[in-house]
Amino acid sequence: MSALTKKVAELMHEPGCAKNQAKSEKERKKGCGKQLTPGAAAGGCAFDGAKIALQPIVDVAHLVHGPIACEGNSWDSRHVFSSGPSTYRTGFTTDLGELDVIYGGEKRLFRAIREIIEKVDPPAVFVYQTCVPAMIGDDIDAVCKAAREKFGKPVIPVNAPGFAGSKNLGNKLGGEALLEHVIGTEEPEFTTPCDINLIGEYNVVGELWQVKPLLDELGIRILATISGDARYHDIACAHRARAAMMLCSQALINVARKMEEHYGIPYFEGSFYGIADMSDALRNIARLLVERAPMSGSSTAPKVSSALDRPFRAAISGFIDRFLPS
Ligand code: SF4
Repeated sequence: MSALTKKVAELMHEPGCAKNQAKSEKERKKGCGKQLTPGAAAGGCAFDGAKIALQPIVDVAHLVHGPIACEGNSWDSRHVFSSGPSTYRTGFTTDLGELDVIYGGEKRLFRAIREIIEKVDPPAVFVYQTCVPAMIGDDIDAVCKAAREKFGKPVIPVNAPGFAGSKNLGNKLGGEALLEHVIGTEEPEFTTPCDINLIGEYNVVGELWQVKPLLDELGIRILATISGDARYHDIACAHRARAAMMLCSQALINVARKMEEHYGIPYFEGSFYGIADMSDALRNIARLLVERAPMSGSSTAPKVSSALDRPFRAAISGFIDRFLPS
């Protein structure tokens, strides 16, 4: 079984997905992926899903290894905004042709990575696999590893060729690339007890900027957004958050669940749309942060908890009085 087939099988049985868990054992074995009908407009391929999940990381170069149409189809389809760097909006592709199909595209990919690092020098290069190079056997993991060693820079393979499945599956495969190669690889300059991650928030047409002022007012710091208006360094440090909120209908549930498993970061699923959902989201964030404050066996635990609890309660009730009158 190839690494990709194994990964897809694992994602089809996501234990964090309530729908999946509600199925019978027999149904669960079939997985949750609905096979696409060739030619049907099924809302994008797996590559497209991985690209939309990761392209909002604004300061890295997103290099698509494949024929030019793959990049053309997926470029900026969500219209996500950046508060700074615009590297993510440049369409990088290896633009494979017939000769590459005959001789293989690995050398071409390596040269493309080198050219990007020499000319743009981003903090990282994300390399996306697509159908054609996957079918001719180009090993992007090996090329990325060689480039990482040669240039001393993170070069991240995103193994989600279009034929692997649906766009939703591609979202999750994109998340797997972050879990395997990015999250936990760097440390933040400082941390606070109120650091959170937003998982599945893409800052589509700047929506994140409507929410951030409310969190700022409550003293809650977004350590990393995965991946709207994100910087590479922030995502590399995301393992130091104290709690996480999962948005976008479980598109990155595998990231939320595995971060809880590996780093002990509790999460909940929520939405920022509408007064009731917004109010619930803020309460849930505050609840998780307060619950996580005590450390077992520590005599200072109750003190820490109540110290955190008081300002949160005051801030949230002040916020509700001002913005959400009953
Ligand atoms: S990855 Fe495959 S399915 Fe997706 S756009 Fe490229 S060729 Fe089409």
